[in-house]
Amino acid sequence: MQTTGEPGKGKGRSVVIDLKSFFLSDGLSEALECRLDLSGMELGGVKPFCAPVCAHVRLTGFGGSVELRAEVGYTLTMPCDRCFEEVTRHFSSTFAHTLVRQLHSGGEDGDYVLVEDERLDLDRLLQEDILLDLPSKFLCRPDCEGLCPTCGKNRNEGPCGCSGREIDPRLAVLQELL
Ligand SMILES: [Zn+2]
Ligand SMILES: [Zn+2]
Repeated sequence: MQTTGEPGKGKGRSVVIDLKSFFLSDGLSEALECRLDLSGMELGGVKPFCAPVCAHVRLTGFGGSVELRAEVGYTLTMPCDRCFEEVTRHFSSTFAHTLVRQLHSGGEDGDYVLVEDERLDLDRLLQEDILLDLPSKFLCRPDCEGLCPTCGKNRNEGPCGCSGREIDPRLAVLQELL
């Protein structure tokens, strides 16, 4: 298998894989490991990908297309959505795609990924997968109590002394709904 670029080293270089032999050989299957450097990617004002992203990828030729299965582990370091404490959490996901040389129906089809010149830009594909996979809420722990709306103290560190009577009436309405 031919790869170009040096995974994990420097920015702007990508891992490009020549898929010609997979398109031609039914059943040909190879595994590879790569690291992606997403340290320059910004999300909500922070750059959360402090550690390289590790991917275990398997490519299998199947009926003129290529099945790709990637197990990806990534670590996010960013502020909790509720208490704003910086936390680091690890995520792992599996992505699967069918890589094709041409799309038959003409329209966009989410299940198929068009590979131009039989060369796969693995970095770009996995980067898109990871962006779609990111958690919609990023919390330091599932039951994070967040900041007190009255005094701003981090309530995970203990009660702040504000009594229930001082709660903003708008929040009190919300509380009754919980
Ligand atoms: Zn939190
Ligand atoms: Zn308080």
